Amino acid sequence: MARIFLLLAVVLGIVWWIRSRASARDEASRTNSAQQRQQAATEASTGDGAIEPMVQCAQCGVHLPRTDAIAWRGLHYCRRSHLPDSSAEGGA
Ligand SMILES: [Zn+2]
Repeated sequence: MARIFLLLAVVLGIVWWIRSRASARDEASRTNSAQQRQQAATEASTGDGAIEPMVQCAQCGVHLPRTDAIAWRGLHYCRRSHLPDSSAEGGA
């Protein structure tokens, strides 16, 4: 009779252990997905303004934000002095 109780206690202990492990894993994954969702939201919100597309200067090859670059004839330049000399090119 005592062996049955012992067996029952062992089985209950195993069931409780598996349940606690499963719930802990479930909670961890839930926290993980919440963090991922929050991270994605943060990236989405910063993606509106903070992350700018980078362009390369056609003259010196330096990379800079597109808003800081000077666009000229479909190319981007980092500064005005890197623009091709249009007066020599045009002639007039
Ligand atoms: Zn340049």
